[in-house]
Amino acid sequence: MANSATTVPTTGEPRLDMQRVLSNRAKSIDASGIRKVFDLAAHLKDPINLSIGQPDFPVPDILKQAAIKAIAEDRNGYTQTQGCPELLRAIWARLGSEFGWTHAPAEGLSAIVTSGTSGGLVLGMMCLLDEGDEAIVPDPYFVMYPQLSALTGGKIVLCDTYPDFRMTAERIERLITPRTKAVLVNSPGNPTGIVLSSRELADIVDLCRARGILLISDEIYDEFTFSESREGGRFPSPAQFSRDCLLIRGFGKTYGCTGWRLGYVAGPHDLVQSIAKLQQYTYVCAPSMAQYAAAHAYEVDMRPWVDRFERRRDMVLEAFAGVTEVATPGGAFYAFVKVPERLGMTASQFVEKAIERSVLVIPGKVFSTRDTHFRISFAAKEERLQQGLSVLRELMAG
Ligand code: PMP
Repeated sequence: MANSATTVPTTGEPRLDMQRVLSNRAKSIDASGIRKVFDLAAHLKDPINLSIGQPDFPVPDILKQAAIKAIAEDRNGYTQTQGCPELLRAIWARLGSEFGWTHAPAEGLSAIVTSGTSGGLVLGMMCLLDEGDEAIVPDPYFVMYPQLSALTGGKIVLCDTYPDFRMTAERIERLITPRTKAVLVNSPGNPTGIVLSSRELADIVDLCRARGILLISDEIYDEFTFSESREGGRFPSPAQFSRDCLLIRGFGKTYGCTGWRLGYVAGPHDLVQSIAKLQQYTYVCAPSMAQYAAAHAYEVDMRPWVDRFERRRDMVLEAFAGVTEVATPGGAFYAFVKVPERLGMTASQFVEKAIERSVLVIPGKVFSTRDTHFRISFAAKEERLQQGLSVLRELMAG
């Protein structure tokens, strides 16, 4: 038996100076925001958790069975970097029916399956931004967006969208500089649930086209678009107006399999091929069993769940009516709720009070330069959601 004393350093032994070996990139990333909320909540027995960023339904059976079958049939090796053919076929069928996008060489379009939407975002930005190049993203933002600066060396420029959280062409235009390479829109948005209309998206497409800027559309919540925000029965996307945009989409939220790490990117061929080169040397390919399963994703109708989320959205709006401002979420499963000014506290202070009453929500400063709102997730069972909403409403009433 090995003597553990020879492998475990003794307490007196000099340790490596980690501050010297860690990169500035790693040091510059601060992951404390959400962690602080969870630390505060750690001692709670059975909190009403309205902080979760994933749906509360199980993975549809067709997908579960397909993943299990792939594993049992020993299909566990690498797939092609671009993705397995059956999933790529399903994706192209989808893009064809939605926007008339096809994979014909003359179209100049490509798609690649990625390790989560995050994999697509990181690789996409790495292909676009050199030191000092700029990308414009919304504020409030999905937590990863500002970190793309440390990850790529580029500069992430925040587009203030308060108080209605609409990232309009007018708000974007003011931020464009000669270094701007990309504009990133996220509709339906995290943390606000805001859905941009086709009119608003068409204006952004026109602006980007006129200024030679790439439009990136993070559409991870595309299926979670509520009835009044759907146009012609569907979710508005800039891809309706342009082939020069990069679509970044996911399967994790739509099918309740966030841990499977699966997404895809589609758009201009040369850019997607660059992403494929980077994927080859980083993630290699997306998880194989998840790819084989997701090839069946479009056989599943998630609309009953989307309708249920819409009813929960209505519960949220009803709960806060008359006590504070909430920009109506047209999709996703979040609302970004203002802490009433009359309370004289920051959102972080308000969230501490909510946690004292066993309700978990996330303060706005995790998603923004401001600390005036909190994010509530309505991916929670109706009874719990109602309990949580009553507490939050009571705290607001003072
Ligand atoms: N974009 C947005 C707007 C998100 O909210 C998330 C996840 N919360 C992601 C991307 C990343 O998703 P994935 O788990 O597919 O990497």
